[in-house]
Amino acid sequence: MSPAKRLSAPVAPGSTIGILGGGQLGRMLALAAARLGLKTHIYCDEDDAPAFDVCHARTFARYDDERSLAHFAIGCDAVTFEFENVPARTAAFVAERTPLNPGARALALTQDRLEEKNFVASLGLQTPAFHAVSSPEEARAAFAAINGPSVLKTRRFGYDGKGQAKTLSADDVVNAWTAFEDAPSILEAFIDFEFEASIIGARGQDGDFVAYDPPQNVHENHILRRSTVPSRLSAAQAAQARHIARRIADALEYAGVLAVELFVTKDGALLVNEIAPRVHNSGHWTIDACLVSQFEQHIRAVAGWPLGSPERHADAVMENIIGQEAADWHKLSESCGALHLYGKKELRAGRKMGHITRLGPKTSAH
Ligand code: AMP
Repeated sequence: MSPAKRLSAPVAPGSTIGILGGGQLGRMLALAAARLGLKTHIYCDEDDAPAFDVCHARTFARYDDERSLAHFAIGCDAVTFEFENVPARTAAFVAERTPLNPGARALALTQDRLEEKNFVASLGLQTPAFHAVSSPEEARAAFAAINGPSVLKTRRFGYDGKGQAKTLSADDVVNAWTAFEDAPSILEAFIDFEFEASIIGARGQDGDFVAYDPPQNVHENHILRRSTVPSRLSAAQAAQARHIARRIADALEYAGVLAVELFVTKDGALLVNEIAPRVHNSGHWTIDACLVSQFEQHIRAVAGWPLGSPERHADAVMENIIGQEAADWHKLSESCGALHLYGKKELRAGRKMGHITRLGPKTSAH
């Protein structure tokens, strides 16, 4: 395997950024790139991908189709991805031909909840208590160690609550693990948190780092319902959240936007739940409430440009439009918010169809 390519100079306007994945995140990245005079090439294995509507070039092919991947990589000046389950082989294949950011290490770590939590803990950052589960014996031992409400999560391919089960006894853990078809998993202590928050940061290829004001997040049925800034975090907690994101980004020699999902406990501690090596749903409000959105920030970092100002000029509430709610698009379009629809044809239950951001005067500095 050849070493990963590195960018030798910033990618100039008129050049092409490749994006693996064609969902709404890819769509909003492509729109942000266009504003900077950059073209995008979207590579996706679904033919009706939302990002295909707004890009310069598109490839509809499987992630293991090396001919298509080579053609894509060679035609791009820098490549990124919009979902963290890009197969490791795909990422390595592309990275040998064209600079890929964030890099393979961030991708590999965030694809495995056990590796990710071990890494976070190794940096001295707090997480919920966790234990590996890959046998009925480990399931029982993990429950005995936590000895209380807990959550079994598959190590890989979980999102929006998929591959997760709440457990209250050792038998529950064994049964849930069997229901996950013996997939390698982790058992985490269930946190009776005060609220959830996230921190969205960006690291440039020169090591510069910026972060947005941390939003407070509410989930319903494991799907993000709403993000609000300012959050209920104190100034000191907000500073701690920034420190967490920076520590992770620096340790990974990261380039791009990353999000860290946090549980805020009743005694004020910030526990890391999850790292997303990409732009994040809880940062969509930055499009309308900040000088430079998370999407533009990510494109800047991937293209080797200087980072932009993450400054927020308004308070914001971002609400997701989920499933059937999008059928009310006409009514939503009349309300005084910034409406974003992702162009998805099918209104499936639980599917993120769009979002709306409502702004108000800025009331807090963090
Ligand atoms: P995840 O896929 O790990 O981001 O989990 C999705 C959502 O499930 C989180 O945002 C929380 O609302 C909830 N959740 C996950 N893990 C825990 C936990 N250990 N304690 C309490 N709630 C959790």
